[in-house]
Amino acid sequence: MLEWMERPHRRLNPLTGEWVLVSPQRTQRPWQGKVDQVATRAAVQYDPSCYLCPGNERAGGIRNPQYTSTFAFDNDFPALTRSSEGGSLNEKDLLVAAPERGVCRVMCFSPRHDLSIPSMELAALKTVVEAWRTEAISLRSLPFVKYVQIFENRGELMGASNPHPHCQIWAVENIPNEVSMEDHRQAEYAQAHSTCLLCDYTLMEARGERVVCENESFLAAVPFWAVWPFEIIVLAKRHCARLEDTTETEREHLGQILQHLTRRYDALFETPFPYTMGFHEQPQESAAPAAAWHFHAHYYPPLLRSATIRKFMVGFELLAGPQRDITPEMAAARLREVGA
Ligand SMILES: [Zn+2]
Ligand SMILES: [Zn+2]
Ligand SMILES: [Zn+2]
Repeated sequence: MLEWMERPHRRLNPLTGEWVLVSPQRTQRPWQGKVDQVATRAAVQYDPSCYLCPGNERAGGIRNPQYTSTFAFDNDFPALTRSSEGGSLNEKDLLVAAPERGVCRVMCFSPRHDLSIPSMELAALKTVVEAWRTEAISLRSLPFVKYVQIFENRGELMGASNPHPHCQIWAVENIPNEVSMEDHRQAEYAQAHSTCLLCDYTLMEARGERVVCENESFLAAVPFWAVWPFEIIVLAKRHCARLEDTTETEREHLGQILQHLTRRYDALFETPFPYTMGFHEQPQESAAPAAAWHFHAHYYPPLLRSATIRKFMVGFELLAGPQRDITPEMAAARLREVGA
């Protein structure tokens, strides 16, 4: 490790322009917290009380079909609706509001209640990736949609109320905060360097220090600017702006790398690792050309030391900016060591 890396420093996230404080010397602190084992519940293939299992009834009396692979439907309790009625507000640029239309979908990965990405067959994962792509293309074709966010919340810690393997897909009328920042930063980088920010970054990460795992088409690394202890970014090795633009082989490899990295996550604290994950791709009416927008995925897991000890974003982090103790290099080494 380089000398500066062992002392307090800050690192820039070039995708957002935000800084994170890193305090590696604090990892020498004695730890007196307790380490708990999490009781794991017996998993059943079919749960009669699960609203996502095939054939079961959902809210409003709708019955799921006897689906056999993936299954997507409009969320019964959507955060957004397809029609927007209601006006906008601007009082002296201080009270500002505008209507927002959207579509919220839910997608089950499998009819099996007890499976998850780490335990699914690779062929079934390929089907999940294809279904993500189909959903994104179809939602983006709606005239008002500017951005489609695919995301998975895994585990009760991340607010996933149902263990049945599933994700959510939200299509929105305006480019959301995180995506908008990345959109502008990638556009600016391409202007200044005449290359793609994440193409350049992927080549740097290929040196290996922060790599967790990789295959022919994708590389998973703890990013240099990671905020969460075991945060991961999954980068396409060949430039493409959207999941839509990937080849069939790349989609197969995407399913494979998501499985490899989540198996490492599960092995780290011997627990089903909770996280929020999702893809970032070029929005409609992007500030950046397609050659500057690089398709990728983020994993944000909250665990810090064990199955029950999580990182909290409190104090300085809530009021000023994020901070971490374990360096991204140390986190990547630990994830490499546990194996898949
Ligand atoms: Zn279920
Ligand atoms: Zn690129
Ligand atoms: Zn991103």
